Amino acid sequence: MARIRESWPTIVGVGLGVVTLLVTAGLVAGETFVGIPMRGWVLALLIACVGLAGQLVLSGKVALRRERRLVYAAAEMRELTGRLERLATTDALTGLLNRRVFFEQLGIEFRRSIRYRHPLSVIMADLDHFKDVNDRFGHPFGDLVLSVTAQALRTSVRESDIVSRYGGEEFVLMLPETGRDEALLVAEKLRLAIQRQEYTNGVTETRITISLGVATTPDCVPNDAEDLVRLADDALYAAKRGGRNRTSFAVSTRDAEQAKPGEVASEG
Ligand code: GH3
Ligand code: MG
Ligand code: MG
Repeated sequence: MARIRESWPTIVGVGLGVVTLLVTAGLVAGETFVGIPMRGWVLALLIACVGLAGQLVLSGKVALRRERRLVYAAAEMRELTGRLERLATTDALTGLLNRRVFFEQLGIEFRRSIRYRHPLSVIMADLDHFKDVNDRFGHPFGDLVLSVTAQALRTSVRESDIVSRYGGEEFVLMLPETGRDEALLVAEKLRLAIQRQEYTNGVTETRITISLGVATTPDCVPNDAEDLVRLADDALYAAKRGGRNRTSFAVSTRDAEQAKPGEVASEG
């Protein structure tokens, strides 16, 4: 149907040409159809040509419109794909990479660090008494604290480091090419950044502290990437037990049999 609608110049041109032929034939009384005068044929042909020319112009316009629609659709598709990718890889509240992407990247980096014998560190971080913030100031303010903390952590480390929201008020960081001493310095920098951070929505204002656990390969002798995170998590809980607002370094799996508590590296 659309095709017929788009072909109207040809239909009108050819139709009018035929009418011209018939009228010219009728005016010349007694003549047969083939006896139509030359003027009739020329006029009919001219009208049909005008119709065909109109058709060409219209077809060009239709093609242009179609092309434009395709360009818009492709741009929309790109935007949608980007949005889907962001949804699938980031945490909606903080904008940090999510846990799934973190473990994907950590797996890759862990294999690389073992193969080339390069150091790799993981820091687990958990806000102290965060439940109190929600209880005192409400959940929306708690969300603001999480967003600001995420930004503070992100801006305190290198571009090549990965900062991810592990869940709730817990964050996890991967520091490639970073050994134990340097990772402990980074953790301390993060702890001080959060301690100094003022959290405000213009009405309410508060401060909060953070506890951190650090684990490093090869020092901690982890079996795999998940083990490295587990070791950092154990160190984090040692920091919590040690009084919070501090950093602990993980107990190596080799020393774990002796069941030593996490060594407290620094405290506020
Ligand atoms: P600790 O020092 O031992 O870590 O104490 P805590 O209060 O920080 O830890 P706890 O596990 O008792 O409480 C964590 C709180 O974090 C409870 C939960 O409601 C809150 N929480 C988790 N996810 C979100 C979130 O997305 N937004 C807000 N506002 N709160 C969250
Ligand atoms: Mg907490
Ligand atoms: Mg927690």
